[in-house]
Amino acid sequence: MLWSGWGDPARAAGLPGPVRTLLQDILGVRAPGTPAVGLDEVRLPAPALPAGVLAALESVVGAGNARSGDEARVRHTRGKSTPDLMRMRAGDGSDAPDAVLLPGSHDEVLELLRICAAHRVAVVPFGGGTSVVGGLTPAREGHAGVVALDLARMNRLVSVDAESMVAELEPGLRGPQAEELLAAHGLTLGHFPQSFEYATLGGFAAARSSGQASAGYGRFDDMVVGMTVATPRGTLDLGRAPKSAAGPDLRQVVLGSEGAFGVITSLRLRVRRAPQARIYEGWRFGSFSAGTAALRRLAQDGPLPTVLRLSDETETMVGLAKPGELAESGGLSSGAGCLVIAGYEGTPEEAAERRDRAAAVLTGLGGTCLGTGPGDSWAHGRYSAPYLRDSLLAAGATVETLETAGFWSGLPRLYDAVRLALHGALGSPLVMCHISHVYGTGASLYFTVVTAQSGDPLAQWEAAKRSASEAIIAAGGTISHHHGVGRDHRDAYAAEIGELGVEILRGIKERLDPEGILNPGVLIP
Ligand SMILES: Cc1cc2nc3c(=O)[nH]c(=O)nc-3n(C[C@H](O)[C@H](O)[C@H](O)COP(=O)(O)OP(=O)(O)OC[C@H]3O[C@@H](n4cnc5c(N)ncnc54)[C@H](O)[C@@H]3O)c2cc1C
Repeated sequence: MLWSGWGDPARAAGLPGPVRTLLQDILGVRAPGTPAVGLDEVRLPAPALPAGVLAALESVVGAGNARSGDEARVRHTRGKSTPDLMRMRAGDGSDAPDAVLLPGSHDEVLELLRICAAHRVAVVPFGGGTSVVGGLTPAREGHAGVVALDLARMNRLVSVDAESMVAELEPGLRGPQAEELLAAHGLTLGHFPQSFEYATLGGFAAARSSGQASAGYGRFDDMVVGMTVATPRGTLDLGRAPKSAAGPDLRQVVLGSEGAFGVITSLRLRVRRAPQARIYEGWRFGSFSAGTAALRRLAQDGPLPTVLRLSDETETMVGLAKPGELAESGGLSSGAGCLVIAGYEGTPEEAAERRDRAAAVLTGLGGTCLGTGPGDSWAHGRYSAPYLRDSLLAAGATVETLETAGFWSGLPRLYDAVRLALHGALGSPLVMCHISHVYGTGASLYFTVVTAQSGDPLAQWEAAKRSASEAIIAAGGTISHHHGVGRDHRDAYAAEIGELGVEILRGIKERLDPEGILNPGVLIP
């Protein structure tokens, strides 16, 4: 993973001609952004961890699995939000951990937590490092040091219960590794977020991730039937039946806890049979509201595709690489309408049968089938978009995403409120939106914003983000459908759950982590 950007440097994407036109003609981008510094130029805080404590921690994980060199520290600094990347590109390594520890087992994690609690060393569980909400940016104050707990060595498929369709997997497995291990048993998780190639199972659970095929396979938190968690107070072993009436479900306390309550060391996950057939199709609707009504119908009355997403007019137009038409229409053109991608996975017969029934519903609601071309092209490029961000930053544009969810009846208001807030804060940005996770009762809205960088792009984005977050809460949406809370959404989360809600979280934190060493500053206001 590129330390100051996204993914495999060999796959870095140049900017296509139409995108350059869009930057110059529509957004008024003139000057290139500040180039990224070299890794050896990143300014790191002097290591604060006492040598004796580091030696004690190293004795738990073994030589080679405790790293305090500059490169390891830089590679475990923050996550992958655009502000994170801006800071790294500028050489700001002030949030770097003092050391990186790679435990190999649950017992090693427990022992590390014991030592860290005894010395008040902050611990940041680190999966794939793809957090986009400041989930890996701990508050150092009051701590003797900070260590990143990289779970990469805990990467085994522990067991498969084919009868119950449950697999036990370790948290450090990245998406592709987990899928490969399960494929050997003819199984899949069906969890494919855009960060799939780098993010880990532990991170998916800790941040309540949702994948692109959530309509068919569910969100990641739906898949978790059990888990083992190491805390400074000992072990939590949760989930002994598919459903239970034995009191409140404590798994739900850990899901979404973002490393603030404990370290997930094992996950028991519901698995599905790997599909034999995949059909992805494109559909055109005349407007975002007509497309939204069609998605709602499928979500409420079925049949539900495995993948179901709808781009608004602007996102459709940009996706079609027709920024010239965008310029002519003053930013919004109804010419291209709105693109829906509907995908079906399963046995060949089942996928085809579901496709035919859904196609009848979509046609009946005004959709025009565009065939498998747009669907296959979406599937082919589904993990490429993040690479463009690095090129846009270098070219002098800021690009960032934000997301929310709401009930169907409130969705148009939420959509308008966020767009208005972003336009108010940024002048004339390009704001694109899609729906990619649907439920009987509502859906998510995922916004991508592109704007010309001001003299202080970080402050410019932070102001826009604040404004969008306030608009989301005021319009009745949640501050996050699947990115989580981290540090960036902490205040908005407090507004969402209220004072009593915050007190409950603090109470749980005090019980499980009395020294306050776990990811301090993240999640809990
Ligand atoms: C380009 C891009 C695309 C993305 N697309 C999506 C998407 O489609 N859907 C989606 O849901 N998200 C998406 N994300 C966000 C991110 O990938 C998810 O939040 C993911 O779940 C994080 O997993 P990770 O392994 O990288 O966790 P990290 O970023 O390493 O950690 C995330 C949080 O979880 C904690 N944590 C990690 N592992 C553990 C553990 N074992 N125990 C306890 N706490 C732990 C960390 O301390 C941190 O607070 C995207 C991010 C990027 C940069």
